[in-house]
Amino acid sequence: MLGKRHGILLVVSGPSGAGKGSLCTALLRDCPEVGFSVSATTRRPREGEVDGVHYYFLSEEEFQKAIDAGEFLEWAEVYGRRYGTLRGPVEKMLAAGQDVALDLDTQGATMLRKIRKEGVFVFVLPPSFNELKRRIIGRGSETPAEVERRLREGMGELRLLSLYDYVLVNVSLEKTLRRLQAILEAERCRVSRQECLPNLL
Ligand code: 5GP
Repeated sequence: MLGKRHGILLVVSGPSGAGKGSLCTALLRDCPEVGFSVSATTRRPREGEVDGVHYYFLSEEEFQKAIDAGEFLEWAEVYGRRYGTLRGPVEKMLAAGQDVALDLDTQGATMLRKIRKEGVFVFVLPPSFNELKRRIIGRGSETPAEVERRLREGMGELRLLSLYDYVLVNVSLEKTLRRLQAILEAERCRVSRQECLPNLL
C-alpha cells in the first residue's frame, strides 16, 4: 500500500457561462470523496441559493474584514462583486489527503497558479461564442448590460489559456465530466505525488 499523499488542488476555471459550476456540481455528485470549498461573495443570493451551501453571502464590510485577517487563499472582483476562497477549510482538507475542487474565475486561478504550482489547473471553454451567449442569457439572472460585459470579458480571458495544465471544451456535460475525472485520476497516479514511494524501494 502506498502511503497517504497530500490532497490535489483541482482548479476549474474559465469564462462565465462555460459551465464550470455545473461541472463542479456533477464532479462532487459522482466523486463524493472530493472536497469542495464554499466560497464567500458579496453578491446577492439568486433564487434557491442557500447561505453556507452555495456561497457564504457576506456584506462588503465582512468581506473586507476577512481579507484584512488573511482568511482568503485567493479572492477577486468579478463583474463588480467580490468572491473569495476561504483558506482554512481548503488547507485542512488538503493536509488530510483529500482532493479539493475549486470553481474560480480566471483572475483567482491566475493568482493561485503563482503560489500553488503543484495544483491542477483546468480551463473550461464553451463550444462557441454563440453558445456562450445562449447560456448566459438562458440563466436569466443577468441584465442585458451584464450579459454584454460577461461576453466581452469572456473572450478576453481566452489569452490566459497557456497558464493552465488542461483544457476542456464543454460540448456535453457528461463527456466533459468524464474527462475531468480522467484528469483527476491521472494526477492521482503521478509519481511526484506519491509521498511514501521511497519507503517501498
Ligand atoms: P456567479 O456569480 O455566477 O456564481 O459566479 C461568478 C464567477 O465567480 C464565476 O466565474 C465563478 O467561477 C467565480 N467564483 C466563484 N467563487 C469564486 C471564488 O471563490 N474565487 C474566485 N476568484 N472566483 C469565484
